Amino acid sequence: MKRLIDKLANENILSPEEFLYLFENQNTENTLYLFKKADGVRKKYYGNKVYIRGLIEFTNYCKNNCYYCGIRCGNKNASRYRLSEEEILMCCKMGYDAGFRTFVLQGGEDPYYTADKICSVVEKIRKLYPDCAITLSAGEFSRKDYEAFFNAGATRYLLRHETASKNHYEKLHPKEMSWDNRMECLKNLKEIGFQTGCGMMIGSPYQTYNDIINDLIFIHDFKPHMVGIGPFIPHHDTPFASMEKGSGNLTLFTVALVRLIHPNVLLPATTALGTIMENGREMGILAGCNVCMPNISPSDAKTKYTLYDNKLITGAESLSGKESLKERLNSIGYEIVTDRGDFKEYPNMF
Ligand code: SAH
Repeated sequence: MKRLIDKLANENILSPEEFLYLFENQNTENTLYLFKKADGVRKKYYGNKVYIRGLIEFTNYCKNNCYYCGIRCGNKNASRYRLSEEEILMCCKMGYDAGFRTFVLQGGEDPYYTADKICSVVEKIRKLYPDCAITLSAGEFSRKDYEAFFNAGATRYLLRHETASKNHYEKLHPKEMSWDNRMECLKNLKEIGFQTGCGMMIGSPYQTYNDIINDLIFIHDFKPHMVGIGPFIPHHDTPFASMEKGSGNLTLFTVALVRLIHPNVLLPATTALGTIMENGREMGILAGCNVCMPNISPSDAKTKYTLYDNKLITGAESLSGKESLKERLNSIGYEIVTDRGDFKEYPNMF
């Protein structure tokens, strides 16, 4: 097992059989060895710096009906909201004053927020905060729309691929949604010049180790700038309400593997990880993550943007909690930085 972890650290890839062996032979000793390797690789590229992103959940209206997601259009119990342009700009102002230099606008696929409206918000943020990165995470759009976002001043785009196995994707989504289109979107985003993020849930219904291995191979080949990985957590008003939640340990294990596969990737310690596990985000950092995304949305939005049950909304998941996050990370030897925290290309590293 340790030999395979060393091999992965040296070669950045293993065969599917070797990955499967790693997943099937997890134990405390091997896991700690893996985390130590992943932590070392992260330190080589990013030191002990943890980048923070101010997350603004700008709408929970969504035209899609993903079986796992609490804001799916079929959930008639969801209490819907959308922030106005002014409210989004207010979040940015408060975030900027608190030291955030990246704003992440995440939302459902809200028909009100057309590409033109999104461009208008992005242009305003770009003008007010020329030194900040603007990340969008608003779902699937045409290549033309993505180009317009980029030209308006957006710098990054997060679009989790959700699963690299087409047949698994079809078990998580209704037939109106297409794995091929999602993959096409990711390709377009990267070609346009966005720092592009993909990602997946761990323990989503019907997922096997082979599906996670497909995700790892996809990440190796696609070389995204960012990868968001969190455990699946059921939401009571979805078709997956009674499905088993994902494992925090398996999430950490996968995160550490991703760090070894793609050493300079930006890896957030996700809210879902913090929700499912006590000190989940700190554990994520120790397993190779280097990004935290505190939620800087207004508190009403925070409670309504419920993708899954019991979402962490207090403590370090807030603007006021930035100090506590700082202390918590300091206590494990890491420091938050006021920095855009861009992806570091390999050639600049040496
Ligand atoms: N509409 C945007 C943003 C989606 S929400 C888009 O399509 O990209 C961000 C991510 O939350 C999703 O990509 C999904 O991976 C995750 N998510 C949704 N429901 C979840 C659940 N029940 N448990 C854990 N993660 C979930």
